[in-house]
Amino acid sequence: MATETQILDIDRAYDNKKVLIVDDNLTSKAILEDILNQNGYETRYALDGKEGLRILAEWKPNVVLLDLVMPGMDGYGVCRQIREMNQSPRPSVIIISVKDDKSSIVDSLACGADDFIVKPIDEAELVARVRAQQRIVEFYREIEEDKRSLETILEITTAMSATLDPSEVLSAIVSKVASITDAVRCSIVLIAKEDEAYVLASHEDPSVKELRIDLSKYPEIKKVVSTKIPLALDDISTHPLMSPVKESIAELGGMSVLIVPIVFNDEVLGTLFLRTRRRLHGFAKKEVDFCRIVANASFHALRNARLFEKVVKEKDYLKEMAVKDHLTSLYNHNFFYSRLDEEFERAVRYETPLSLIMMDIDNFKQINDTYGHRVGDLVLKEISATIRRAVRKTDIVARYGGEEFAVILPHTLQKGAVEEAERLRESIAMSAYAGLVNHKITVSLGVASYPQKGAMNSGDLVNHADDALYKAKWGGKNCVKIAE
Ligand code: GH3
Ligand code: MG
Ligand code: MG
Repeated sequence: MATETQILDIDRAYDNKKVLIVDDNLTSKAILEDILNQNGYETRYALDGKEGLRILAEWKPNVVLLDLVMPGMDGYGVCRQIREMNQSPRPSVIIISVKDDKSSIVDSLACGADDFIVKPIDEAELVARVRAQQRIVEFYREIEEDKRSLETILEITTAMSATLDPSEVLSAIVSKVASITDAVRCSIVLIAKEDEAYVLASHEDPSVKELRIDLSKYPEIKKVVSTKIPLALDDISTHPLMSPVKESIAELGGMSVLIVPIVFNDEVLGTLFLRTRRRLHGFAKKEVDFCRIVANASFHALRNARLFEKVVKEKDYLKEMAVKDHLTSLYNHNFFYSRLDEEFERAVRYETPLSLIMMDIDNFKQINDTYGHRVGDLVLKEISATIRRAVRKTDIVARYGGEEFAVILPHTLQKGAVEEAERLRESIAMSAYAGLVNHKITVSLGVASYPQKGAMNSGDLVNHADDALYKAKWGGKNCVKIAE
């Protein structure tokens, strides 16, 4: 069953409840087994030291219960050998003995044992002591993990200073991360557009440099791009987030994923992507924290990647295209409305004036009919440039429709707006236009302002300016009229 879309603060190591019993006495072995199994421990046993060492190496229990007196190698000898094995994490050894003299205890501890229990066994004491040792092994494990993480981060920073080639740096990062997290796949993905991304480095295939992927097949990455926070999914094949792509990930049944965003300026530039075979609880909080640090460290390499600049340029271009008109490069109709809304709200809130000029080219149809549509387009471009030159820096100029333009004038009273409209009218009328023979171009303009009676919202302001423009047309064109 898939769990919540959150990062669980679990410690995988606590899963290891394995206890190895090394005792030649079958009765005593049976008692130990019984108590431990009843308390949720998993046990295995060996009747002599040699067999015990073999099971220890292969099964890797956290705790070993060791009898002192045994045929062949005695408990001291076994304990010494365990310490020579230098296993990681270091298993705890508890000596269990009928002997309770001081020298047995001292010698046991000297051989590398961690604790000593005297027979007959007391259930509560045994469980408490095993639990205490279990805890110590976990500490060892955590310290070792932290050490490995630190070493890896150091290796990554060293790799960064050793090479200027971003693709080499990214490759080093993914292979180091994969080795420390035992991920079956670790990659760094550059986010380009809505559904477009590039794998810049992948540890499973070092030849991957700029592999384009379709993000619509990766809902988990898209989620991280929108939320900007790390996401860990346990068992992706059953997770609801993945249901739209269920078919394509069927073969990944049981895999868990972790995606950590690489964020700059509040924007997700890329992600660190990990996939592991662990099903139940894929990634521990510690690993997520580690990947966060690595993701932050990857930022510079990502930004230096060859594709990065291209992607950023395209993004900026798309952003601009979304608000601008193609022909004139003025703001488009949609942007005009959203800006006018904002400015109107600001004017109301701060009690500042706001004006709007609407203008329409006079007899423009005739230009098209006489000189053709292409010349008409050129005229529209030139008029746009003239308007831009004539307005103030803080004014917002938009192409409202075919041959209609709008200028938003923040902080401007009616008087100032009329002056500006007059200036615009003159500039346009005075200009010469390429391709037109002795043909002047004029515009009619309408001005509306806030505060004014009946101007309750931005829509009213547009209607008032439109009415004024209509009056200007009726009044003979090439003039400025004010809304009543
Ligand atoms: P009025 O003085 O009453 O505004 O007359 P007009 O001819 O300017 O107005 P009308 O609305 O009849 O015609 C506007 C013309 O503008 C018709 C349309 O073909 C032209 N137009 C609109 N958009 C474009 C464009 O992008 N390029 C060109 N070349 N012409 C355009
Ligand atoms: Mg028109
Ligand atoms: Mg017109």
